[in-house]
Amino acid sequence: KALIHLDGLTKVFETEEVETHALSNIHLNVRKGEWVAIVGPSGSGKSTLLAVLGLLDTATRGAYMLDGRSVLDLSAADRALVRNRHIGFIFQSFNLIGDLTVFENVELPLTYRGMPAAERKQRVERALEKVGMAHRARHMPGQLSGGQQQRVAVARAVAGDPLILLADEPTGNLDSKNGEAVMQLLTELHKGGATICMVTHDPAHARVATRTVSLFDGRVVQDEQRR
Ligand code: ADP
Ligand code: ADP
Repeated sequence: KALIHLDGLTKVFETEEVETHALSNIHLNVRKGEWVAIVGPSGSGKSTLLAVLGLLDTATRGAYMLDGRSVLDLSAADRALVRNRHIGFIFQSFNLIGDLTVFENVELPLTYRGMPAAERKQRVERALEKVGMAHRARHMPGQLSGGQQQRVAVARAVAGDPLILLADEPTGNLDSKNGEAVMQLLTELHKGGATICMVTHDPAHARVATRTVSLFDGRVVQDEQRR
C-alpha cells in the first residue's frame, strides 16, 4: 500500500492568456520508507510537485491520497491540519524564525497542533539531540552557521513524527561540507524508516536516495528504483 498515491495529478497555472501545465497527468506511488529524489531542469515542475505533496498548493485535476486518505478535496483548514500533523518541511533557505530561539522554532509546529507543553519539551529535546544541536537550544538562528540552521530546520521537520518529509534543495545554500552533513542526517532518518521526497540539482545527492523521479515539462519521464 502506497503512502503517497498520485493519480493523474495535473496543475495548470493560468496567467493572462497563458496556460502553463506545471504538472501533467502525474501517476506516482511512494511507499513508506522510500527516499525519492525529484530531479529535472528548471521549470520542469519540481517545486510545484513538492508544494502539492505538502498541501501548500492544490491541483487542477487528479487525486492525491496520503496514507489512504484523499487530501485534495479537503477544506483549506483541514488541509492545514493534515499538513501540520503529518508533513515535515525542509527548505533551501532554512526558514527559521529569526526572533525565536532554536528551541522555540522547533516547538512552534507542535504548539500549533495543540500539543501539551511537557510533550513538546520532550519532543523538541529529542529532535535537537538527533541532529546534534541540543547544546544550541537557547541560541537565536542568527547566531548559527547555515549548516547549523539547516540541522535545526531538520529537527523542526521531524519533531512531530510526520508521515512524510519534504525537502526542497536542502543543501542548496550550504557549502559542500555542511551539505554532506545534512545528507548524512537525511540518511540516518531514512535508515530510521522516514519517507523522504527531496528536490535536488545535485546528481551525487540524488544517487544517495533509493529512487529518482525525473520530471520534464511537468511529466515524469524517468523513474529509477535503486534498491
Ligand atoms: P521547477 O521547480 O522544476 O523549476 P516549477 O514547479 O517552479 O519548476 O515550475 C513549473 C512551471 O510552472 C514553470 O513553467 C513555471 O514558470 C510555472 N509556474 C510555477 N509557479 C507558477 C505560478 N505561481 N504562476 C504561474 N506559473 C507558475
Ligand atoms: P496556516 O496558515 O493554516 O496556519 P501554515 O501555512 O502556517 O498554515 O502551515 C501550517 C504548518 O505547515 C506549519 O505549522 C508548519 O508545520 C508547516 N509549514 C508550512 N509552511 C511552512 C514554512 N514556511 N516553514 C515552516 N513550516 C511550515
